[in-house]
Amino acid sequence: MKIIKTIPEMKAAVGEHKSAGRTIGLVPTMGFLHEGHFSLVRAARKKADVTVVSIFVNPAQFGPKEDLKTYPRDLNRDSVMLEKEGVDYVFHPEAGEMYPHGYKTYVEVRDLQEKLCGRSRPEHFRGVCTVVLKLFQIVGPDIAFFGQKDAQQAIILRKMAQDLNLDVQVEIMPIVREADGLAMSSRNTYLSPEERAAALVLAKSLEAAKRQIDHGERRAGVILGGMKAMIGEEPLARIDYVEAVDMEDLDPVKKIVKGTLIALAVFIGPTRLIDNMIVSLER
Ligand code: AMP
Repeated sequence: MKIIKTIPEMKAAVGEHKSAGRTIGLVPTMGFLHEGHFSLVRAARKKADVTVVSIFVNPAQFGPKEDLKTYPRDLNRDSVMLEKEGVDYVFHPEAGEMYPHGYKTYVEVRDLQEKLCGRSRPEHFRGVCTVVLKLFQIVGPDIAFFGQKDAQQAIILRKMAQDLNLDVQVEIMPIVREADGLAMSSRNTYLSPEERAAALVLAKSLEAAKRQIDHGERRAGVILGGMKAMIGEEPLARIDYVEAVDMEDLDPVKKIVKGTLIALAVFIGPTRLIDNMIVSLER
């Protein structure tokens, strides 16, 4: 496994594989890897000849009051684990390599970027789209892998790929959870033991919603009301949003149907966590 820090080296490395007719799979990450990330890596290994994992804590997707400085980083640990997973390249650029002095170009997916997480993180998806398009240009993947954990991000990136006619297949992989249901996230490391216990309320509220839907309830207001009441009972939790939306336009729905996205963001103490489920209507 090779760790590459510069754009020209990364382009040269994948260029050789492409000339030899090999397909490239890309897994973009911010590092501090967990099983959620590894599920994407394993999918890439299966579907593409060459696997590239990028590790880049992207300044453009953090708001001024967010955790860019404190975001957990451990390249050595990540590298050891990625080598074991059979990854071919880790792309780990410095911020100045991706955004040199005088950088000016940003990508926006209008409308979708303003909904759900976009309301409390106004520049977030602009930063995500910009870095992912840059990574696509640098790595030239045939397939790129993202997690449903960040459902809005996945929907926005699919739209970007479609709108900009990118020759990359965007694959979205299921949410990987801890044994007790908490969705895996690098930010879970911020949680104190009390907060870690309180954080379970996100998954528990989704499970409660699923039970209600399984029993035939379809009114979004009733289901979301139940979720909010449950989260409201957890003293360490503060709701950012709890919504049921259409997967295409991310607009709120009144009636739950197959494919409705139920998504939530909740502060547990100072840490903002997200979770979601796509309604299957299968028992
Ligand atoms: P991050 O390092 O948080 O930017 O995440 C990198 C990629 O891993 C994104 O596509 C995430 O959606 C995905 N990911 C993060 N956590 C999980 C999880 N628990 N299950 C599945 N995918 C995940």
